[in-house]
Amino acid sequence: MRSNPTVNDSIVAAEWVLPIAGAAIHHGAVAVREGRIAWVGSLESLPSEFAGWPVALHAGVLTPGLVNGHTHLQYTGFADLGRGSYTSFEHWSEEFEVFYDAVQDPAEWGRAARDGAALALASGTTAFAEIVTDEPARGVLAEFGLQGIEYLEAIGETETRWNAGGREAFTAWLDQPTAGVVGVSPHAPYSLDGEVIRELTALARSRGMRIHSHVGESEVEASLYDFGNRDVLEIYGDMRDEFALIRNGGTGLSTARYAASIDLLGADSHLAHGIYLDRADRDLLRDSGTRVALCPRSNRVIGLAAAPVADYLREGHEIAVGTDSLSSSPSLDLLADVAALAELATSQGYADADLHERVLYAATVGGAAVLDRTDIGALREGMRADLAVFDVKVAEGEDPRTALVTRGEGSCTLTVIGGDVRHARGA
Ligand SMILES: [Zn+2]
Repeated sequence: MRSNPTVNDSIVAAEWVLPIAGAAIHHGAVAVREGRIAWVGSLESLPSEFAGWPVALHAGVLTPGLVNGHTHLQYTGFADLGRGSYTSFEHWSEEFEVFYDAVQDPAEWGRAARDGAALALASGTTAFAEIVTDEPARGVLAEFGLQGIEYLEAIGETETRWNAGGREAFTAWLDQPTAGVVGVSPHAPYSLDGEVIRELTALARSRGMRIHSHVGESEVEASLYDFGNRDVLEIYGDMRDEFALIRNGGTGLSTARYAASIDLLGADSHLAHGIYLDRADRDLLRDSGTRVALCPRSNRVIGLAAAPVADYLREGHEIAVGTDSLSSSPSLDLLADVAALAELATSQGYADADLHERVLYAATVGGAAVLDRTDIGALREGMRADLAVFDVKVAEGEDPRTALVTRGEGSCTLTVIGGDVRHARGA
């Protein structure tokens, strides 16, 4: 077997280096040894111990490998769905079910997840908060040497179903040996009974696993938790009457308060989307340590409102950013979502000079934080040598972060994982 080319025992240099943890470095360089970062600085201040090492000089901007805070790589084959446009979450869900039910061969989930991993790698992503709904998609991160967590998803479990074998099946799945890190994803507070979510989060916590769910993605979600509005559960047909929220006419709680009541919030949990949350709900997330991964392009395809990006930034949230899957997004290029976040924040009135710095932080350190990792997401001595280079031209006097955020999409020329070159273009 041919091994990957390596950057171990060499210097990766670029016109600009963005360590994220620290100021941008003009004519910067990273020394790599045994898959780790041995040194970061300006090329002209290279310590003598690295003086004899080969130097590869790249055009553009070098960053830590990007961290995708919310994906479902197993839906990479659903790109035709993601190229459409929809009028509501319920409308998109109906179309999604058609695609999902059409998959006959379970091996397709594994093939699609591998295709997705390759696409993401080619755009500079090296770590994922990845949701696995079907077993054949599991293990793909480890297979590709990618970092992150594969969250096993539970969906459509009422208490009745959970008690009739669902609990045993899910627990057995969770405890099945696998390569890589496992987490628990209660799909959403509307698609599982609250009691089931309480048990799922307890299962995760008793195993030291993280939790990841979809919250505040549908416009009508809040009215289900509040007074039992059935609309968000439309695709469940008659079965929706089996859900406790419908039977009981809701709980009178707001979305985040309901999520808190079923133990879904906490520093060991992060949520995708967080669109339809008011100030009190957002404060509850922040104060409970629950982070949000925003997926702006997916939201746009599905026809949802824009997430309150400017509010999240102003209110002191440390956000992450995700592409979601190709079933609701045009690509797995995380920098396209970073650009979309910046545009939204600006259109919502965020005018602080740190905007580009903060959205890049979301795609690196913010993502690492939702994976509970401190060894990825930044360039610092001792961290993993997971690197990406983007061939963007930085104008004279321009902040390289602005260049990367606004023109970085599609420009990745090099992706390195643990010192191994896993993508190289136009060298
Ligand atoms: Zn999702």
